[in-house]
Amino acid sequence: MMKLIFEITKEDRRSVRLPMSTIPSFNIPKEYARGQRPHLPEVSKIDLVRHYTALSLRTHGVDNGFYPLGSCTMKYNPKVNEKTASLVGFTNIHPLQSAQETQGALELMYDLKTMLCEITGMYDMTMQPAAGAHGEWTGLMMMKKYHEMRGDTQKRVILVPDSAHGTNPASAHVAGFDVKSIPSAADGGVDLEALRDAVGDDTAGLMLTNPNTLGIFESRIVEMAKIVHEAGGLLYYDGANLNAIMGQVRPGDMGFDVIHLNLHKTFSTPHGGGGPGSGPVGCAKRLAQFLPTPNVEKKGDTYFLQHDNEDSIGSVKSFYGHFLTLVRAYTYILSLGADGLSDASRIAVLNANYMMARLKDTYTVPFNGLCMHEFVMTAQKLKEETGISAMDVAKALLDEGIHPPTVYFPLIVKEAMMVEPTETESIETLDHACDVLLSIARIAKEDPQQLHDAPVTTVISRLDEVEAARNPILRYSISL
Ligand SMILES: *Cc1c(COP(=O)(O)O)cnc(C)c1O
Repeated sequence: MMKLIFEITKEDRRSVRLPMSTIPSFNIPKEYARGQRPHLPEVSKIDLVRHYTALSLRTHGVDNGFYPLGSCTMKYNPKVNEKTASLVGFTNIHPLQSAQETQGALELMYDLKTMLCEITGMYDMTMQPAAGAHGEWTGLMMMKKYHEMRGDTQKRVILVPDSAHGTNPASAHVAGFDVKSIPSAADGGVDLEALRDAVGDDTAGLMLTNPNTLGIFESRIVEMAKIVHEAGGLLYYDGANLNAIMGQVRPGDMGFDVIHLNLHKTFSTPHGGGGPGSGPVGCAKRLAQFLPTPNVEKKGDTYFLQHDNEDSIGSVKSFYGHFLTLVRAYTYILSLGADGLSDASRIAVLNANYMMARLKDTYTVPFNGLCMHEFVMTAQKLKEETGISAMDVAKALLDEGIHPPTVYFPLIVKEAMMVEPTETESIETLDHACDVLLSIARIAKEDPQQLHDAPVTTVISRLDEVEAARNPILRYSISL
């Protein structure tokens, strides 16, 4: 078992020696001084380097293996993004500096929002929200204010398809709406009749992602928009994952009024470790007055921050959000260009369809037809025949150095496995992953126990997931 850095400590070992302090020493009054030395790690430089290198090798990332985790867009993040995000002109500025001193940063934010508005077909945008779910809540608060300002106080319900990402109903609830679920039709899209039945005077809006979480494009979207708009509702687009439509079709043209993007998915900021992300929110003209403040604007050749916007929902994050994530997205968009962005989505869709075509006879695909940037397959038949579940398949993939797909989501498909290969993978990588998945299905028939035991090559094997969820041990006691 690997030790913590606090456990390999030896008194007076050093990695660096600090210069003698030039500040006169000061005696802290006894009542404020600590009773014992703090337990800080004391290790030599080589042990320090080995410790963190060993830790980094224990994790799976896009840089060391295939990562087809559906709805997460674990694509390769170009290293040039890191180079621009570490330029001192961007890292050594402070948000309280004047607009005059930070014209470059403001220009970047303004240009980025202009490009993202162009890509999504929106009128204006805020960069403040810290991630996708935060963007959802921000957009919903703007929708709420829109209805309030019109005196439409009965508009309390947000409609959400049953295939939606879990954050959608959660955000609507947190924003103070009631949530009504709309069932899917047999083809995996929203059931239009059910939508018509659900829409009424209380409909504040419909929240949707297109393609939906089954990887299916809602071809009836224009009709859906019409139904919701005619009832005075608004359309919210969950654009966390724009990988299928970037440069192909624009949510604004489909009739959407509000959208959030996840810059840490489609626009390539590393996010496997959980952040920092960025969830800009764009909107149609009639909602622009409700955008959070401050927003970056331009007058002549000068960029400035617009603070006094009376109808704004207010600030949703300190300053202007996660600025360096914006730098990465800006670099990504400029380095790909319009053609590159549109190629990226075409190849993302091609890669997903290629894998689906190779796997669908073995792992059933619940909805027929072409998929977009991801697809859902199921281990249900495999489980009935061999007892091997989606979880067993996922664990067996770990032994092959492949990150599993998203499993047991979306909830409407039993034994679901949601695969998103992304555009950055080669045909060799896709073929290898398909070969591995097909061989797992063969092993399931011949030697299922082998799969129940997997993974055997990882640091820890199967966790007791119920125990881990019910009685988590969140604190590690170090014995020193
Ligand atoms: C990832 C994702 C979200 C949530 O984004 P976070 O940045 O994790 O809050 C919402 N909707 C969809 C469709 C997603 O894929």
